[in-house]
Amino acid sequence: MAQLKIGDITVTALSDGRMSFQTTNMFPETPESLWDAYRDRFPEAFNAQGFLINIGVFHLASGGEQVLVDTGLGPHGAAQGRPGPPELIDDMRRKHVSPDEIDSVFLTHLHGDHVGWNMTHDEDGSRPTFPNARYLLQKADWGHFTDEKFLDDGRRDAAQLTYLPLPDMGVLDLIEGETNIAPGLDAYPTPGHTPGHQSMLISSRGERALIIGDVVGSPMHISEPDHVYRPDVDKEMGRKSRHEALDLAEANGMTVIGSHMTRPGWGRLIRWEGRRYWQAI
Ligand SMILES: [Zn+2]
Repeated sequence: MAQLKIGDITVTALSDGRMSFQTTNMFPETPESLWDAYRDRFPEAFNAQGFLINIGVFHLASGGEQVLVDTGLGPHGAAQGRPGPPELIDDMRRKHVSPDEIDSVFLTHLHGDHVGWNMTHDEDGSRPTFPNARYLLQKADWGHFTDEKFLDDGRRDAAQLTYLPLPDMGVLDLIEGETNIAPGLDAYPTPGHTPGHQSMLISSRGERALIIGDVVGSPMHISEPDHVYRPDVDKEMGRKSRHEALDLAEANGMTVIGSHMTRPGWGRLIRWEGRRYWQAI
């Protein structure tokens, strides 16, 4: 099931492959044994190395507009723990999503596994992969990820391949705070994972969903929201946004859609013995 309807809005799940990480790489202060019970509950989210996570990308069709949420790890990501080749462009073709028809590329944040296909580089030069789209990002993320000291710390080449040229290409729109993107689609800031990390509220005909990006990094993270999570730039703010977003979704019975949830990437929050769990749908 690669499609979900939220009222009149159609969500199509796309993927750019998977990545795997040692559990201690993600949660450096958490004992390995904590994850044992989760291996039984979410076998598809583990491999011999540790966590096995989807690189999720979502296509939204609403009121004649097409929005892509994130662009995956891209063709340059082999060094970042991806066991297989990139898949996004093939997956889009298979699901009849045309890069030319995307109106907005909504970037939850600028980590490498969310911006990989922003641009295409070949013998003709470099250009946006989605030529007719505005690329939408929170201003706070742009500030953080273009800081000279940040780039000088070995990150400039990857940034150049994926996001630094976007302003010169005339396709980047920096937004601030809650912002309407398309009918029923609104940016919802969830800072902490990165300074300008944004989620997306989906609302149509009384149905609601929340795309949470990297507010949680795996299904297990929903049940264990308080552990020190290494990828969070601001650990305390990340924890706060995680609680707020999951509370919002649970209180309103919203479908939750996550970049690194098991495919296709959507589910509901359930309670079992006082703890919150992810249940794929
Ligand atoms: Zn990510």
